[in-house]
Amino acid sequence: MYLPVFIGILCGILVFLVYASAAIRSGVYLKAVCRLKTDEKVVALTFDDGPDSITTPKILDILSGYGIPALFFCTGHKMEGQEHLLQRMVDEGHGLGNHTYAHSALFPLLPLAKMKKDMQKCEERIQHFTHCRPFFRPPFGVTNPTVAKAAAQLGYRTMGWNVRSFDTVKKNYRDVAKRINKKLQPGNIILLHDTTPAMPELLTDIINYARQQGYRFVRADKYGGGTT
Ligand SMILES: [Zn+2]
Repeated sequence: MYLPVFIGILCGILVFLVYASAAIRSGVYLKAVCRLKTDEKVVALTFDDGPDSITTPKILDILSGYGIPALFFCTGHKMEGQEHLLQRMVDEGHGLGNHTYAHSALFPLLPLAKMKKDMQKCEERIQHFTHCRPFFRPPFGVTNPTVAKAAAQLGYRTMGWNVRSFDTVKKNYRDVAKRINKKLQPGNIILLHDTTPAMPELLTDIINYARQQGYRFVRADKYGGGTT
């Protein structure tokens, strides 16, 4: 008689645990900056998973043409051999963030020591180019108590996003742009990937739309209006 109730509660707990781990915005395990605390018409672009030898230079060209700064959550192993791109990012006023060295899907399951080592290995690469303490963004935005402990012990501030583009999944960049543009509001931190081949077209669309609506672009890690 009580079995359905028990199963219901168990399912509820499971759904909560999945949500808490997968949604960085939930803030259940660690408090991440997921939007800028402001009523000003500003938005921030963040690019994950690069640098990419083909797409990243095109993104930098576009950002430079519009005079827009962004934050690049770089993956450590992809930084190897792309030093010129990283130097260019810094020289052109962009920020570098820590997105782990290996960007493994198993990152959340690593023991604490290995997890910290992976994060530190990425930071060492970043420190060649900037002495600013980077923000941390866990792979896939997945968090759990170990990820929270690793970030806390290493003194990291963590950054998520409040607009997910699904640019790595959706094939048509216009659909992705439409989705992002529909969500335009003050303080958005937009998640993009500099590994997406159609990023130049997508980026141009997003920038033009936001500017037409009177928005300007700021660096998520530098914006003075505070974050939440
Ligand atoms: Zn990633």
